[in-house]
Amino acid sequence: MHLQILGCSGGIGGANRSTSFLLNDSILIDAGTGVGDLSFTALTRIEHVFLTHAHLDHIACLPMLADTILGSRSAPLTVYASKATLDALKKHIFNWAIWPDFNKIPNSEAPFLRYATLETGQSCCIEKCTITAIPAVHTVPAVGYQLDSGQNSIIFSGDSVCSPAFWDIVNTTGNLGHLIIETAFSNREYQLANTAKHFCPLTLLEQLKNLSRPCQIWVTHLKPADSELTMQEILQDNKDLNIRRLEQNQVINF
Ligand SMILES: [Zn+2]
Ligand SMILES: [Zn+2]
Repeated sequence: MHLQILGCSGGIGGANRSTSFLLNDSILIDAGTGVGDLSFTALTRIEHVFLTHAHLDHIACLPMLADTILGSRSAPLTVYASKATLDALKKHIFNWAIWPDFNKIPNSEAPFLRYATLETGQSCCIEKCTITAIPAVHTVPAVGYQLDSGQNSIIFSGDSVCSPAFWDIVNTTGNLGHLIIETAFSNREYQLANTAKHFCPLTLLEQLKNLSRPCQIWVTHLKPADSELTMQEILQDNKDLNIRRLEQNQVINF
């Protein structure tokens, strides 16, 4: 199985794209601006979208994806998320004011877009990949995801400052290969990071002390203004940690 990083920046501008990962051609994990770089044919292959939360940098391309591929697919696009996230999407995005309600057109019986509730702890198996929603701590209801190919697992924290429940799952995942974890801000934005419930290097490194299992750690969601500084702050004095910056267009095989 493969996970292609369509976007992993905490912002836009130039080559920066916000969070979206393409799993095995038909599954999106978040739908940030990276989705917009896919070809039309690649867009039509997307059948499932798993959202970590409703923040705009993670859903920005979902409305236009639905609009672009409607009529080119025989089956509906399915959006998986917690009830709280789906309620926010229905109320604030697919509400006819911002964008049409594709769950009602062409009709409610056979809509272009359907919703599937996936709460923390629940799993869904698609194309032999088990996708499990795992606990996250953010300013709005949020989850992370474990992607388990059977041979290997990727755990993605989503936007989160993590919790004991999160580390319990990480540390009991026997086939853990990769941990994708966010660090949005540099240490000079320590206060803002705490308020926004994002990591900065200080809080990331403190939480990583809970990791008791070897794996490749990938840092994602770096804000463009301080991305180099943030990685320097993470790596200085921590050369022994197996930690690298997640790169756009990178493919993780697992
Ligand atoms: Zn967020
Ligand atoms: Zn975000």
